[in-house]
Parts: sequence; structure tokens; C-alpha cells
Amino acid sequence: MRDLASRNALRIAITGAGAMGGLFGARLALAGYETVLIDVDPARLAAISAHGLSLEDDAGSHRVSVTAGLAEDFAEPVDLLIVFTKSMNTGDAIRAAQHILQAHSWVLTLQNGIGNERTVAAVVGKERVAFGVTTWPADLIAPGRVRSHGAGIVRLWSMTGGITPQIEKIAAVLNDAAFACVLDKDVRSAIWEKVIFNAAMNGISAVTRNSVGGIADSTDGTPLIARIVEEGLAVTAACGIPVDAAAIRAAISHALLNHRAHKPSMLQDIEAHRPTEVEAILGAIGREARSVNVSTPVIDTLASLVRIIDRPRS
Ligand code: NAD
Repeated sequence: MRDLASRNALRIAITGAGAMGGLFGARLALAGYETVLIDVDPARLAAISAHGLSLEDDAGSHRVSVTAGLAEDFAEPVDLLIVFTKSMNTGDAIRAAQHILQAHSWVLTLQNGIGNERTVAAVVGKERVAFGVTTWPADLIAPGRVRSHGAGIVRLWSMTGGITPQIEKIAAVLNDAAFACVLDKDVRSAIWEKVIFNAAMNGISAVTRNSVGGIADSTDGTPLIARIVEEGLAVTAACGIPVDAAAIRAAISHALLNHRAHKPSMLQDIEAHRPTEVEAILGAIGREARSVNVSTPVIDTLASLVRIIDRPRS
């Protein structure tokens, strides 16, 4: 990437112009970065091309003009590609955008789930992959229209380990856009903490078609969550990944109390007949568990149940 002093000259592409791609794209463009959005959905691309991105957040309402298109519409190389497709589309998205990556370009994934960085690295090589996790929330109200309320952070690290000038630049760029980004050598722990949270809340909610409040009100909800968390913790222990069990439980308790109306994304996807991220969340924990001879019967059952109802409209 170019010099830090001229970092606003960086050219950024975001693949996946949905809720998170819209949030990051809008904030980066508002911070002065040349940002283009890539997607495969003609309606989303048409809306963004016609009206720009509109973002409603705690700072107010913003509209910003950005270029949006299919990957093949772009020829000019980018310095940074940020991946915000759902996890099952990561490989296709990276392969489609490969021609705008050069030897100096980096790819950042902040998607949910286990293994996105490995999918990216399989295409571009791990030497230029940054990966992490974000707690910023985003909802897509309509194509090109994003709502994001509340604060979040971004934790990221390089796949090869160690602080590199490039990941420092990526963090600086995200901080210019007010994303509260920190470099975190233990980012894998943060990813696992989030995936265990998501396995419990998304999995139960998708299968029972309950929003968070419905799970909280059932006498079976909390014990089931506890078993899923225990299984997830057994996997991280066997894998040698330190996680903060108290923080996971506290985040779940907070959600059960304060986010009662929230429909986790897996439930939203089931209701909209869109494919879910079951493989990157429940499926991935089960696969990691088998690789270290840990048994995760509740998580495996939940994964099977989600797969049965995960029937996208053709
Ligand atoms: P989304 O469904 O709103 O957006 C995904 C976009 O990717 C869609 O516009 C879709 O058309 C596009 N897409 C699909 N295949 C593609 C391809 N091959 N190439 C380019 N684009 C493609 O999803 P989202 O909510 O923005 O989530 C993106 C990722 O971020 C997921 O991994 C999610 O779990 C994670 N995440 C979401 C939130 C949130 O609050 N929404 C928060 C943190 C992390």
C-alpha cells in the first residue's frame, strides 16, 4: 500500500454491498476515501448507482455517492479489498475480484464465522490477508439504505502474525472512518467468542422462529444456550484458543435482557428464504470439534435442524 501520509489516496473496494458493506462503504467514502462497491445483486447495484449510499446512524443521516458494479465492471486496481459477503459467498467474491488485486493489495475480512480468512488466503495467499471481527451492527432497510445504531469496534490482525505496516495502515484507515479499530494479536479468540454467541442465539432463534425475547421467556431457552456455550468452550479449550467465557455469557445475558425484539440474522435469512451462514457458524464449530475429538451433540443437532429449514427460494 502507499504511504500512510497519503492514505486518503488509497483506493478501496468492498465486495458485498449489503448491510455491512453499505455501512463500511458509506463511512469510508464520507471520510474521503475513494471507495467502490461490488455485488452480484442487480437491484442493489442499481439503487446505489442511482441514489448513492444512505446511512442512518447515531450521528444522523448521511448520503454519499459511490460507484457500484459487478466485479467485472472494474479494471482499476485497488489497494484494499474488504469482504462483506455472507461467508458462503466469500470464495466466489474473491475469485471474481481477483483481477483488481495487485501484488501490493491487501484483503480484509471481518465476516462472521470460522474460516473466512482461510478461504480468502486460498485465492490470494495468506501474506496479504488481514482478518478480524467487528461488533458494529447494520441493517439493510432497502437496497443502498443502511441503518446502524449503537457503537462497535473492529479487531484485526494479519494472517501471518505480527504487526505489519500494512495492517497498521488498514487500522488507521478504519479509524479515519470512526470504526474504533484496534490491532489484536488474539483476534482468533474474539472471533471464537462471537461465533459461540452466534451459534447459541442465531441457531436457536432460526430453528424456533423466535426473536431474542421469545428465547428469553422460555424455560428451555437459557439451559439450551448454556449447553451450546459449554460445547463451544470445550472446542476452544481443546484447540488451545483462550476465550473469555464470562464475557460470552455476559453478552448473551445482555442480549436476552436488552435486545428482546431483535431477530438474529439467521432467522431473518430463514424468513426471507435466503441461505444462512449455518456452515460458518454451527457447522464450523462441529467440524473443528471433530478435528480435536470433542463431542458437540447439541451444536451438531442444531446445525442439522438449520440445514433442514435452510431452503432458499430457487
Ligand atoms: P447482507 O446479506 O446484507 O449483504 C451481503 C451482500 O453480499 C449482498 O448484497 C449480496 O448480494 C452480496 N453477495 C452475495 N454473493 C456475492 C458475490 N459472489 N460477490 C459479491 N457480492 C455478493 O449481509 P451483511 O449483514 O452485510 O453481512 C455480511 C457479513 O458480515 C456476514 O458474514 C455477517 O455475518 C457479518 N456481520 C454482519 C453484521 C450485521 O449487523 N449485519 C455485523 C457483524 C458481522
